[in-house]
Amino acid sequence: MTRRFKAMRGTHDILPEEASRWRLIEEEFATICIRYGYQEIRTPIFESTEVFERGTGFSTDVVQKEMYTFEDKKGRRLSLRPEATPSVIRAYLEHNLDKRAKVLKVFYMGPMFRYDRPGAGRYRQFHQLGIEVIGTASPVADAEAIVLLWDFLRAIGLKRLKVRLNSLGCEKCRVEYSGIVKSFLEGNLKHLCQDCHERFARNPLRVLDCKQKKCKAVVAKAPEIGEVLCQPCRDHLEEVKRLIKLGGVESYLDARLVRGLDYYTRTVFEVFHEASGIDNSLGGGGRYDRLVEDLGGPSMPAVGFSAGMERIGQALEIDGVNLETNQSVDVFIAPMGGQAFEKAFELARDLRLNLRVWLEFDERKIDRQLRTASRLGVRFTVIIGSDEISRGIVKVKDMTTGEQYEVEQSGVAGWLKKRLGGTDLE
Ligand SMILES: [Zn+2]
Ligand SMILES: [Zn+2]
Repeated sequence: MTRRFKAMRGTHDILPEEASRWRLIEEEFATICIRYGYQEIRTPIFESTEVFERGTGFSTDVVQKEMYTFEDKKGRRLSLRPEATPSVIRAYLEHNLDKRAKVLKVFYMGPMFRYDRPGAGRYRQFHQLGIEVIGTASPVADAEAIVLLWDFLRAIGLKRLKVRLNSLGCEKCRVEYSGIVKSFLEGNLKHLCQDCHERFARNPLRVLDCKQKKCKAVVAKAPEIGEVLCQPCRDHLEEVKRLIKLGGVESYLDARLVRGLDYYTRTVFEVFHEASGIDNSLGGGGRYDRLVEDLGGPSMPAVGFSAGMERIGQALEIDGVNLETNQSVDVFIAPMGGQAFEKAFELARDLRLNLRVWLEFDERKIDRQLRTASRLGVRFTVIIGSDEISRGIVKVKDMTTGEQYEVEQSGVAGWLKKRLGGTDLE
């Protein structure tokens, strides 16, 4: 027997029913982003590995352990994108988008790749939606990003959402905090996991987001960044808090929120769904005021977030939200016999200018075709046979009432459109 293949571990197929829900979610996201003045950007799935080493950060677990990195035929080192932000910044610099407007506001959606241990809701190919705002240090931009994500999640029907918020400080506060954390951890090294020993050597702050129980116990006693924030960083955080409260966002400060990437400065946030739990955030992000410079650009403050489609899907399931997808068919065309197929094919083409039309591919008995039509839930079935062709008519059966009409071939499109009352195909 020939071998049958399976999707690779950590990947999943999005089958038609689910895909139609995904499309609704993506459309909702695009609609909201556009209302907020964002434009879409699409970047390649892979980049030079260095984009992520310098962007996502060399010391992060993502870059150290989780990237799909390979050499192409010319020996170039490439990586599948583990996140979109470094790619967006690379594109921003490559195309001089900073010259077009003072601030660039973009959104994106698509697959990302991380070689992580697959688990509930964790995939090696996963899908994200996100935004980036490049060119402003204003706390209004941070607040807008949070409110936008909140509005989107609410719009698709999620309830019981909460935002946790923190500040990682500016360069100045961060250096100070890093020193404090370093000396604190030095005294607790023996209680940390093996990975954290490496993290400690590369960047002590990375220990703060270890998921291991014993490390969490140590981290719980670590000094908080709030203690060392400078006044401008404090003011920035206060302003973000004040603004999102105006936007109706429920938030609280969480001093333990550090996020797993190197580039964040000042604001970091996560939105989580109470029923899914705090460790399964639906999305998050923050400010990254140094990243543009780290990728070879000018000093340019920026902020953004990303949200996970798979996590959002799970949360919708938990909340029992049934997104109404309209995949129904309006009209079923049932040809009877060879010559009728040709007519049916032509008619289907005409009707498809405005209506959703199902046409069978193979010759089948009329009662079988009608059975398929009712399974598809169509409103009208158009029956064409040699008798109808010679009389220049078609028979139209109203599947809800069972009534049958004779309609002139030339007028059938108008007849159906009138009765289906402006089915919108948007
Ligand atoms: Zn500061
Ligand atoms: Zn650890």
